[in-house]
Amino acid sequence: MFPTAIAGSLPKPAWLAETQKLWPRWKSEGADLAQAKLDATLLWIKAQEDAGLSVIGDGEQSRQHFVHGFLEQVDGIDFEHKVEMGIRNDRYKAMVPQVVSALALKGRVHATEARFLRAHTDRKIKFTLPGPLTIVDTVADRFYGDRKTLAMAFAELLNEEALALQADGVDIVQFDEPAFNVYMDDAADWGVQALERAACGLTCTTAVHICYGYGIQANNDWKKTLGEEWRQYEKVFPALAASSIQQVSLECLHSRVPPELMALLKGKDVMVGVIDVASDTVETAEEVADTIVRALQFVPRERLIACTNCGLAPMSREVALAKLQALAQGAALADRRLKQIRALDGLRA
Ligand SMILES: [Zn+2]
Repeated sequence: MFPTAIAGSLPKPAWLAETQKLWPRWKSEGADLAQAKLDATLLWIKAQEDAGLSVIGDGEQSRQHFVHGFLEQVDGIDFEHKVEMGIRNDRYKAMVPQVVSALALKGRVHATEARFLRAHTDRKIKFTLPGPLTIVDTVADRFYGDRKTLAMAFAELLNEEALALQADGVDIVQFDEPAFNVYMDDAADWGVQALERAACGLTCTTAVHICYGYGIQANNDWKKTLGEEWRQYEKVFPALAASSIQQVSLECLHSRVPPELMALLKGKDVMVGVIDVASDTVETAEEVADTIVRALQFVPRERLIACTNCGLAPMSREVALAKLQALAQGAALADRRLKQIRALDGLRA
């Protein structure tokens, strides 16, 4: 069977936070909010298991946003005075906190939800953290003065939390680096190095997710400017192939990424995006299986993991749930098809 996993985020229930927003406001506070986050996590653990996924995540129910959720536990960051910044090379504006002094972790960042996740499923669990380059692109620096130096400072903090997550029982620590597809030269020059610093000493599986972003309008408009072929991965994959990171998550279905670029990831497990996050149309199992079979031209069978293109956070719960089911059913169908082909080959032999 092909393993199946989500990239990371899932929609938050309406009783937890505003729906279909990237930076949703919480609906409660204090102890009520803490409980609501875990209730939502439990709901999604069950939903992923019921859908038949083999790797389970917390759906990032406890963080408002995949980058700022981490930054809230970092000393040296001023959240009181956010400033507007054009992020992802000015693709869209966001209100971002500022780095104002030397960085240090205040303590554990995700202990509660990681241990909760471990306690409520026997399947493999994956936990996501923002990658150093993407963090650097989502804060305003008033202290370090240099993107690489700042990335390395964040990488050390990420490493501290990643090692602790491993001790909590996490099987796969994944760093999310959508900014790798925007700053390809930086990514190859020092982004991968910063990533390896963040993953240093981990004995659990390590992964990186690189995408073209959530299915929001600004991203959909940006994709239209990228031309007939999206070749961003071509610059970054060779550096990743030479790195110690074990799994790479990429966009595939409905993207214009030339599938042969996956061959650049020789020796890596490849999380192939077979679920589109930019469309509410739910994939059929056949469509998912077709995408998997096409990817097998470039990825060995034992290295392919069926995954979503990106997080499902801004979608409706109903659509996200249906997409999880399509993911698992499509992976099972691809597996049956390959077995049939093998059986036929056996008859002919
Ligand atoms: Zn993504």
